[in-house]
Amino acid sequence: MASAFDVIIVGGGAAGIGAARRLAAHGVSAMLLEGSSRLGGRAQTQDLAGYPLDLGCEWLHSGDRNAWVAIAEASGFPVDRSDPPWTKAHPSLADDKNDRQAAWRAYGGWEERLRSLGSGSDRASDALEPDGPWNAYVRAIAGFMSGVAPEAISATDYLAYDDASTGENWHLPLGYGTLVAASMPTSTTLRLATPVERIDLTAGGVAVTTRAGIVDAGAAILTVSTAVLAGDAIRLPSGIDPWREAAAALPLGRNEKVFLEIGRDAAFEPDTHAYGSLHDARSAAYSIRHNGWPVIGAFLGGDGARIIEEEGPAAGFAYVSAELSALFGTDVASAIRPLAATAWSRMASIGGAYSCALPGRSGARAQLARPFEDRLFFAGEATHPFDFTTAHGAHDSGQRAADEAMAALRDRDGLRRRGPLAATGT
Ligand SMILES: Cc1cc2nc3c(=O)[nH]c(=O)nc-3n(C[C@H](O)[C@H](O)[C@H](O)COP(=O)(O)OP(=O)(O)OC[C@H]3O[C@@H](n4cnc5c(N)ncnc54)[C@H](O)[C@@H]3O)c2cc1C
Repeated sequence: MASAFDVIIVGGGAAGIGAARRLAAHGVSAMLLEGSSRLGGRAQTQDLAGYPLDLGCEWLHSGDRNAWVAIAEASGFPVDRSDPPWTKAHPSLADDKNDRQAAWRAYGGWEERLRSLGSGSDRASDALEPDGPWNAYVRAIAGFMSGVAPEAISATDYLAYDDASTGENWHLPLGYGTLVAASMPTSTTLRLATPVERIDLTAGGVAVTTRAGIVDAGAAILTVSTAVLAGDAIRLPSGIDPWREAAAALPLGRNEKVFLEIGRDAAFEPDTHAYGSLHDARSAAYSIRHNGWPVIGAFLGGDGARIIEEEGPAAGFAYVSAELSALFGTDVASAIRPLAATAWSRMASIGGAYSCALPGRSGARAQLARPFEDRLFFAGEATHPFDFTTAHGAHDSGQRAADEAMAALRDRDGLRRRGPLAATGT
């Protein structure tokens, strides 16, 4: 392995690639070490039944201010700005309209009560109506948003995301994962299947250890998930405990997807949506024939996703098939066949879906985002102050960490010698 770079980036997801792009734009030499055999991390598009389906991130949330939109357009990736399927209930579910509206109002009421919890409590479950008739639905939506039950959600954190979101949700027909992986700059040295085992501080910066050897650099940008950071897979310098503790206060929730192929002509309207049950907190949200494709994508959160994590993909298929049969009639069971189920929670290199601050711990995001000894810099979705849980938040955090690393390196001899930052004055 080459032995000296200005910056080493650990992790090749949206944050690592965001960091690499910023460093490359300033001519700063960088190596990106990715533990798995592909780029993208929680951004992963897979060709299933001939369609580019997103196993992880799929929606360009806050599309009107999402950095990936400009990247997509500059690289010729089409961006679909039409309304997402969840704005259009499947027409055969018209009878449920009143119930759906009542459930949605109950969710709005819960959000309002989150705002008035005040200093007494930061636990989102305290804003649930005692014995509220739509509490299961509120729990299901909170599970989609955060991957955990309201008991484990900081109300302050939840609202920080909500308040910053613009409500525009756009789509990449070629896949979000395709775009993220394709956006890796060619000037960055890339090593796949090279998990970082250890990082030490040195006089000149950092020494990063992998199975393939030790690489020296002026600084390192760590973009691994909070589950990885809080665990013991990477040995970090002494003194890092407060950062690990902040990562532990931002655990990853559970969110998984199940894809089904519609095998014969069944009465599924394209670009529509359904909830399995408004009265079951485990229930999945179904995206039906999105883009006209003969595919149903089921999204499970919290306890629903736990079915797959604990009982495996077959149990996930059985659960969503039963929900779809209850909604659309028993005939549909013979018209759909399993395509794939994700297992983000079981992947050691990720360990869940996205971060959610524990009650009282919304400040952990800022604590985690602090530089350590001006040598280690932290990025990743969990470090973003309000766009956490997203691929654009991850991207922006990588750019922020790259700026911090460049600022720290600017005064150091090694970089001055090579000169790119001195030249740009960044
Ligand atoms: C089911 C699901 C649906 C989602 N839907 C959306 C959505 O619609 N819109 C949206 O914006 N976001 C969505 N997200 C969230 C989004 O995917 C993530 O927030 C974002 O991709 C995280 O990027 P990251 O770079 O912070 O982390 P990651 O993508 O996790 O990248 C970290 C990388 O570090 C690598 N790594 C781990 N350990 C090591 C090591 N020791 N050495 C080297 N490398 C290592 C990992 O393999 C990984 O590639 C979804 C996520 C899931 C799971």
